[in-house]
Amino acid sequence: MELLDKLEILADSAKYDVACTSSGADRRGNGRQLGSCEPAGICHTFSADGRCVSLLKVLLTNICAFDCSYCVNRRSNDVPRAAFTPRELAELTIQFYRRNYIEGLFLSSAVLRNADYTMEQMIQTLELLRGEYGFRGYIHAKTIPGADPALVQRLGFLADRLSVNIELPSEKSLRLLAPDKGKTAILRPMGLIASRSAQAGKELAVYRSAPRFAPAGQSTQMIVGASPETDCQILRLTQGLYQKYSLKRVFFSAYIPVSADSRLPALHTPPPLLREHRLYQADWLLRFYHFSAEEILDDKTPDLDPYLDPKCSWAVRHMEYFPVDVNTADHSQLLRVPGIGPKSAKRILTARRTGRLDLEGLRRLGVVLKRARYFIVCQGFSGARGSREETARALLDPAAFGLGCQQLSMFEAPAVQALRGQGMPALEAAKTVREEAVSCLVKAM
Ligand code: SF4
Repeated sequence: MELLDKLEILADSAKYDVACTSSGADRRGNGRQLGSCEPAGICHTFSADGRCVSLLKVLLTNICAFDCSYCVNRRSNDVPRAAFTPRELAELTIQFYRRNYIEGLFLSSAVLRNADYTMEQMIQTLELLRGEYGFRGYIHAKTIPGADPALVQRLGFLADRLSVNIELPSEKSLRLLAPDKGKTAILRPMGLIASRSAQAGKELAVYRSAPRFAPAGQSTQMIVGASPETDCQILRLTQGLYQKYSLKRVFFSAYIPVSADSRLPALHTPPPLLREHRLYQADWLLRFYHFSAEEILDDKTPDLDPYLDPKCSWAVRHMEYFPVDVNTADHSQLLRVPGIGPKSAKRILTARRTGRLDLEGLRRLGVVLKRARYFIVCQGFSGARGSREETARALLDPAAFGLGCQQLSMFEAPAVQALRGQGMPALEAAKTVREEAVSCLVKAM
């Protein structure tokens, strides 16, 4: 098979993997070798079909010994198969780098023969790149569940970021849909990477020349919508992963049906993109806004609101917390206000040293007053006086309704899709769902 044919197959097979941002690595070019990991030199652009175009995102092989039912590369699926040799893949990466097509490599793989054999092939590829070709650019490598811990360690000394895909949010779903993978086979390498990274950090503090182990940390990916877990379960698991394994990111991937299987959503079910979007917003609250998963969702409210972003949703359920006086509130109180982010909260604290803030001052600091005005008081402003309906309309997320300039929104609510599926024109469907959402929200306020 020609190299380009292999590339076509293996790059296409890799497009369902979303965990490929490259933040966190800062190794500079040294003028003698190839590549640089400086953040400014690496973009995180995604092509229309979901591939990250700044990295060569490719599988070493899509020949798989496993049979995960949600995966296009599963053993039982009849698709064209290919495998690179380590030399082919290393040369391809360098050729692409020299032509300025890519800035780094995102390397994943199906399970060729077994986990250890696949890892050895990946390690050989990276050893060629780092050693023979002197490549210093960004490399993100996926570890294979069940691989020998010694191989995971070797991979970690070659790659900038490692990831182990958790794939499904519960052990039960894993057993049902990915019977060849076990919870332990996924969590054990995560634990090993976390402890080895911490150890490498300590060694680096003592010896400047100590080898770096996965300096950009580790991440994971979870498929959303292939199994019945609630958003609450997903967020609690996400929080646990951040706390226990010091993950840099948990990526969520809306399930795209690839097979007719009674255990999975039917073919042609639209991928739950709005749900994926809300989970990313909630993940942001966990990482940057000091929220806990238990505050965002609980057993009574197990799923994220499709019509409100999670922070607005929390605020509407906790009106006793508001209004917040922006001239006296502390940092954590400011972070709870919809429309105030970590940057604007810091700017408010700094600006307050020189005088009291009014609405115009807040706007200049980057506060989104369209939402924040319903939750704050400040100099010359004692709170928005609008009706509850007006407030509800201001808080609803327009992306969920595909109205006006958002007509082609990726995040259209499932209820809008359902009405359109029944033949209702798009605009009318969006308006109908929006009015229902407004009246529900008014009742909840
Ligand atoms: S191990 Fe499972 S998810 Fe990974 S490529 Fe094979 S079938 Fe797909």
